[in-house]
Amino acid sequence: MKDKAEKRGLIIVNTGNGKGKTTAALGTALRACGGGMRVLALQFIKGTWRYGELDAAKRLAPELEIVPMGEGFVNLTKQPPDERDVAAAERCLARFEQAAASRKYDMIILDEINYAMDYGLLPVKKVLEALKRKPESLHVILTGRNAPREIVDLADTVTEMKEVKHAFRKGIKAVKGIEF
Ligand code: ATP
Ligand code: MG
Repeated sequence: MKDKAEKRGLIIVNTGNGKGKTTAALGTALRACGGGMRVLALQFIKGTWRYGELDAAKRLAPELEIVPMGEGFVNLTKQPPDERDVAAAERCLARFEQAAASRKYDMIILDEINYAMDYGLLPVKKVLEALKRKPESLHVILTGRNAPREIVDLADTVTEMKEVKHAFRKGIKAVKGIEF
């Protein structure tokens, strides 16, 4: 019984308006890689992986694999969203299902997937189904603002990053090593 509990993969959600959702997921990846686990990170919205982590990930290969999947420009105010963005998000989810089924990975990070659902690029139901079908032992981390209620309900661990202060508000632009 204990053994089985230890082997169950967790569903983890990093959400909220404060900084740290993606970087906390990458910190968990770092920890997992140290233990010899294989980690895949998929990007649902263009431009959320920065050069810093992409270059560092190469040094952690093959344990860590980061795949930028978002395509083109996502117009965050446009409703309904562009077909092209919907298709890119669907391809990304399909990639997750394929990677999960391959059993090659111990952990998969779905970066900005919460935002993709909130923005209407992906139906929440499809993501729930994909998560319910995942191999028992696979850990999945979902990041992004506005995590849908059903995803929060399904998850084992949910953290809401709260903005107390952000340098950006004083006019400090993105800082190398901190934001990219
Ligand atoms: P990070 O990648 O630094 O962990 P995040 O994943 O929590 O941030 P996103 O919503 O993905 O946050 O933010 C995209 C970009 O905006 C990142 O460069 C991030 O550092 C920056 N950012 C995050 N939170 C804030 C904030 N509250 N105010 C201003 N910029 C922010
Ligand atoms: Mg992020």
